Amino acid sequence: MTAPDLLPCPFCGGENVTTAFDHEQGDKWGYAGCDGCAARGPEVRTGYEREHDAPWHSEAIAAWNTRAPLDEALAEVARLLDGVQRIRNEIKVAMRECLDRWDQPDDPPPHQFGG
Ligand SMILES: [Zn+2]
Repeated sequence: MTAPDLLPCPFCGGENVTTAFDHEQGDKWGYAGCDGCAARGPEVRTGYEREHDAPWHSEAIAAWNTRAPLDEALAEVARLLDGVQRIRNEIKVAMRECLDRWDQPDDPPPHQFGG
């Protein structure tokens, strides 16, 4: 059964994500998974409740819908871009100073030392 509250697959982008119930040797679990690429969300242990209103169903949906937080990644990107901008400005100032010196023929080039 396709649940409308399931997010698309984070791997293939597929929207055909369904929940399922499985069991083996007395263990029973439910999960949400992608029918397109077979990616599966975390398994939620359960008893004998196969019904979609059983607790495992909403837990499996919540587990599937959990994504890594983007806020921290976006803050890191912003910090890196600030650093790039600061370095760019420093290079610009240094190049401008270099060109200004070039325009003054009486001034010795910066690589000459002593007399
Ligand atoms: Zn997928």
